Amino acid sequence: MKLIDGKKISNDRRFEIKEKIDKIRQKTEKIPGLATILVGHDSASQLYIESKIKACGYVGIKSFHHNLSEGSSQKDIVELIETLNKNPEVDGILLQLPIPNNKDVQKCINAIDPLKDVDGLHPFNTGLLNLSKNWNEIVENKILVPCTPVGIINLLHMSNIVVDGKVVIVIGRSNLVGKPLSMLLLANNATVIMAHSKTKNLEKLCRSADIVIVAVGKSKFINKEFIRDGMVVIDVGINRTADGLCGDVDFDAVKDMDIKITPVPGGVGPMTVTMLLENTLKAFLK
Ligand code: NAP
Repeated sequence: MKLIDGKKISNDRRFEIKEKIDKIRQKTEKIPGLATILVGHDSASQLYIESKIKACGYVGIKSFHHNLSEGSSQKDIVELIETLNKNPEVDGILLQLPIPNNKDVQKCINAIDPLKDVDGLHPFNTGLLNLSKNWNEIVENKILVPCTPVGIINLLHMSNIVVDGKVVIVIGRSNLVGKPLSMLLLANNATVIMAHSKTKNLEKLCRSADIVIVAVGKSKFINKEFIRDGMVVIDVGINRTADGLCGDVDFDAVKDMDIKITPVPGGVGPMTVTMLLENTLKAFLK
């Protein structure tokens, strides 16, 4: 087994972002700004927001944090977003998901100015991603793509793992991870298999692929039966268990195989935060 060190790759990338922002500040005396919105006090969401704000501080992005009370209505959230849309110091707006009390998340996201949509979840940006012909077009046009999927693509590129011509199975079809990831993989010339809870013969399908990317949210979901030697395994899952944080892959069961794999923690997670920084810089430059 060879580990794909998401933490190191992510730190290198953050350093590059910091250097770019330093140069911009010296030239223009301006810096990018990111507004984060947390609704309620979910402890995991609070930790995510703290790590995002800390990462902003490191690269020189100005943070504007808003913590709305758990009882806030959809109208309260949309009104805050509309104020932030008009604020020239704010280049990116991140609404931390999930939001409590069954509000219509997509309606809240739709209120974000697409040019400030650093999570890439607004239908305008989803549309641009789906219409892109290839990866170069996505990069050159600075399309705002969801952070976790674009982080995975960068992780693969920066680990010199070839995607072009490879069979990649994505397990999980959420709007946040699986669906945009499949579009990014297609743009990178992969042959993509999209799997979900209704997929039959998942183990066999999985073993037929060169790269498996799992975003299901079930600890130890992927065991030895799904994996063969020579594969690349990207574990997106973050599961809180009695034994601590773990991914969707039963790491101990596959660790003696001849595979490349991302650990949890220290794999996809740090890249997600780094891509948020990169998207904020992109939004500023746009
Ligand atoms: P989600 O919206 O709950 O989607 C889960 C997906 O898994 C669904 O498409 C579901 O299929 C599929 N699924 C469930 N059971 C399955 C089964 N038995 N076989 C095959 N597919 C199955 O989750 P998400 O937001 O994509 O997140 C997935 C995981 O990634 C979570 O652990 C989350 O915490 C983690 N995550 C990590 C990061 C990071 O930065 N590392 C970022 C985002 C999310 P159906 O559509 O058929 O129901």
